Amino acid sequence: MRLLVVEDEVRLARALREGLQADGFAVDVAHTGPAGLDLARSGEYDAVVLDVMLPGLSGYRVVESLRAEGNWVPILLLSAKDGEYDQADGLDVGADDYLTKPFSYVVLVARLRALLRRGVRARPVVLAAGDLRLDPASRRVSRGGAEVTLTGREFALLEYLLRHLDRVVSKTEILDHVWDAAEDIDPNTVEVYIGYLRRKVDAPFGRRSLETVRGAGYRLAADGG
Ligand code: CA
Repeated sequence: MRLLVVEDEVRLARALREGLQADGFAVDVAHTGPAGLDLARSGEYDAVVLDVMLPGLSGYRVVESLRAEGNWVPILLLSAKDGEYDQADGLDVGADDYLTKPFSYVVLVARLRALLRRGVRARPVVLAAGDLRLDPASRRVSRGGAEVTLTGREFALLEYLLRHLDRVVSKTEILDHVWDAAEDIDPNTVEVYIGYLRRKVDAPFGRRSLETVRGAGYRLAADGG
């Protein structure tokens, strides 16, 4: 099994390489985001251990680029505690697992072996409501073939609604699934974001797919409005 370790902390990278080699893996190391992305693109690795905070290109951007290119190599992210991003973001962009630093080497190897057993996972299916389409893999949204640009939060909200087509979902449900549990968010924020979405996926196309159900929540029409 050949592994790629992308880690800018030279001592940690060396320790990982030596440990993993002793455990029978072939290991290559990159110290920057762009170098890691180049190597990962070669398709020669069975799994990638990827630090989040990297010079040149963050681990998240590396994952996003690989997934957008259809590269599904298993990726384990290493994120710093209280980092700039939370761990869920890493899974959102398409990583398979994550560990928070500092981590135990034994746990890292156990998680890696689990990832390798699972192998390359299937590409997530494209979600659709009529001609409104969202591709979780490439993180692209389109309406009638026209590309629609959404922010990360708008994307997450639309994805949640698409996974619950034709069902009324409450503001609380949406807050629980689209916002970080640790954030103290005013439920009216949901309404604001529904408004943003309408302006991007409905209004320009003369459609009304996002329905407000008074006192209950919101419903995305399965036919796309
Ligand atoms: Ca780092």
